[in-house]
Amino acid sequence: MRNVVGARCVSCGTRAEAVPGLTVCPKCGGIMDIEYDYDYIRSHLTKEDLAQRNERSMWRYLEFLPVEKVGKPRLRVGASPLYQADRLAKALGLGEGKLYIKDDGQNPTASLKDRASAMAVVKAGEAGMTEIACSSTGNAASSLAGNAAVAGLTAYIFVPARAPKGKVAQLRMFGAHVVLVDGSYEDTFRISAEAIDHFGWYNRNAAINPYLMEGKKTVSLEIAEQLGFKMTDYVAVSVGDGCTIAGVWKGFKDLYEAGFIDRLPRLISVQASGCCPINTAGAKRSFDWTPQEENTIADSIAVGVPRNPVKALKAISESDALTVNVSDEEIYDAMKLLGRYAGVFAEPAGAAATAGIRKAVAEGLIEEGASITTIVTGNGLKDVANAIKAAGEPVKIKPDMEELMNIMDRL
Ligand SMILES: *Cc1c(COP(=O)(O)O)cnc(C)c1O
Ligand SMILES: [Zn+2]
Repeated sequence: MRNVVGARCVSCGTRAEAVPGLTVCPKCGGIMDIEYDYDYIRSHLTKEDLAQRNERSMWRYLEFLPVEKVGKPRLRVGASPLYQADRLAKALGLGEGKLYIKDDGQNPTASLKDRASAMAVVKAGEAGMTEIACSSTGNAASSLAGNAAVAGLTAYIFVPARAPKGKVAQLRMFGAHVVLVDGSYEDTFRISAEAIDHFGWYNRNAAINPYLMEGKKTVSLEIAEQLGFKMTDYVAVSVGDGCTIAGVWKGFKDLYEAGFIDRLPRLISVQASGCCPINTAGAKRSFDWTPQEENTIADSIAVGVPRNPVKALKAISESDALTVNVSDEEIYDAMKLLGRYAGVFAEPAGAAATAGIRKAVAEGLIEEGASITTIVTGNGLKDVANAIKAAGEPVKIKPDMEELMNIMDRL
């Protein structure tokens, strides 16, 4: 990997070699970050080269990634659509051409987490491991299960018992060994860490394995390429553990350092008001966060003890991010707006970023004429119960024309 310089701890600066099994800092236990040689990337890849490429997946950007090559068979991860969403823009109070939706619910297991899991599977293979494990609010788990299944790896998964049925069904269908933990995400993470230690499985916990963020950052590489490398002023993303926003930021920074974009977007960090430890600290540009209850219907971002606060809070301060917290009601509204004005079906955490934009616009935090990309991180079919709660049950009739006439005004 001539493009990779090594790894560096984000807390104490200790450097380490970027070996496939790399986890946390050997000195302080902090989270490692993969570092690149941007001159090397610059001299080996141009926008024109990229435009010629046939690869339609996250692996299109190998020069920006800590892998030499990727094996097959594999799922098609990435290459999700970026829509210009004028009708939704208007509904949110933005101008024409000012809103884009990156629909990452269109990934193979229906969330952005596929980008991290596909990376985990490649790195586990490089490390010569055949058993891989994670704890997850649900999507990291289902994506690991799917990406491991196609590669023939055995997956051990720990999820909180509250995980929506759709996600649990995916896990079972992909043949993962699933443990439902009767407790919070915090409890789930703890037991998974102990088990991984005990059994020696490859660790797919995104906050511990620094490669996973490198997979997640491909969402930004795609957004930039899809925008012709002319970035929107803002990019909005929902935040749980903090790995996604950190990955999103890393992707833009990498592009900037390698000369592919000439200005960085501001991020909009969106959390649920019922669980917003990162935004509470981030709003003050502080790195001192305190645990919170996990009190929101957006299960994927119901993370009371974030596992990647340092990288997330760095992303917030470096990008001078807006921090916006949204209520469950506002999330339900955003789910409906995405559906009705853009035809995009999002799970609650997937719609949260859009709810955040709506609120930021309403509160006058977005300047006139600004452009925004909203990342839909997960598909609504994963959590049908909340979708029905948001949109309501349809009316039901006997197969009778008269009954139909009677309810026409309620359709
Ligand atoms: C995991 C997830 C997030 C947040 O990512 P973090 O890395 O936990 O901050 C947001 N939305 C969805 C749908 C997710 O699955
Ligand atoms: Zn360290």
